[in-house]
Amino acid sequence: MARDPEAVKRAKTKYRERNRDELNAKSREKARQYGPTESRRCSWERYREAHREEINARRRERRRNNKDETAAENKANYARNRDKRRAYSKAYVMEHRDEVLAKRRERRPEYARKHQDYIKRYGKQYYQDHKDEIKLKAQLWREANRERFREKNRQYYLRTKDTKRRAYDEANKERIRSTHREYLKKHYKDNKELYLEYSRNRKARSKGADGKHTMKDISELFNKQRGLCATCKVKLIKTGKSRYHVDHVHPLIKGGSNWPDNIQLLCPKCNLSKGQKDAEQWAKENGLLFC
Ligand SMILES: [Zn+2]
Repeated sequence: MARDPEAVKRAKTKYRERNRDELNAKSREKARQYGPTESRRCSWERYREAHREEINARRRERRRNNKDETAAENKANYARNRDKRRAYSKAYVMEHRDEVLAKRRERRPEYARKHQDYIKRYGKQYYQDHKDEIKLKAQLWREANRERFREKNRQYYLRTKDTKRRAYDEANKERIRSTHREYLKKHYKDNKELYLEYSRNRKARSKGADGKHTMKDISELFNKQRGLCATCKVKLIKTGKSRYHVDHVHPLIKGGSNWPDNIQLLCPKCNLSKGQKDAEQWAKENGLLFC
C-alpha cells in the first residue's frame, strides 16, 4: 500500500513537535561532537543574521552572570589561540604602524602616570637583568659619538649647574660636610707619614730653605740610626704622643737646608730641649758630642 506523502509529512512534523527537546539535544550533541555541517552552518548563519541583537543580549547576560566562568573561558581561548592571535596583532601593528605609534604616544603620559610604580619596578628589574648589555651599548655609543657625548654633558652641566647642583648641595649640606670630614680623617690616618712629609717640606719652603725630603728618606734615616735617638740613644717610638721628631741639624732659620743630609731623628725630650739651637752648640752645652 502506497503511503500518502502528505500523511507522511504530517506524521514527521507531529513527531518532531512531540520530541522537540530530545531532538534538539541530539542535534546539539552531534554538532558538538562533529562540528556543524555545512547546511547547519548556513542555517545558523541565517538565524544569527536575523537575531543578532537578541543573541548578543543573551551572551552579554550570560557573561554578566558567569563572570568567573567567562574569564576562565577567555583565558583558555586565548591560550589555545595564542600564537594565532599574536601573529594577528603583530601583522596589524605592522600594517598600521604610524597610527598605532601615534596612539601610543598620545596615551603615554596618562599611562605613565597611572602605572608609575610598575614602570619604575620594571625598569629597575630590566636594568638588573640586562646590565652588561646596557653598559656595553652605552659605552659603544659614547665611543662612536665622542664629540656629541661631550657636548651633551657640557650642555647638561651648563643647564643645571646653577639650580640642580646648588639645590642638591643645599639639601645635603650636612651629609656632604660630614662625609668629607670622615674622608679626610681616614685619609690622614692612612697616610700620616705623607702628611707629615708634606707639612715639613712646606714649612721649610716658607722659611726659604733649600731642598726637600721624602717619607723614604726618613725611613732610611730611622734604620741608619738603628731606631735610636741621634743624641741620647733612647729607643725611638714610631706612633702616638711620644713619636720621634724630625729635626734639622743646622736649623732652617739659621740657613740650614731641608735636604736629607741635614736631618736627624730625635726623641721628643731632646728635640724640645734643643729648641732652635744648633745641634753642636746644644750638644756641647749638654756635654755630648754630636757626630
Ligand atoms: Zn734623645
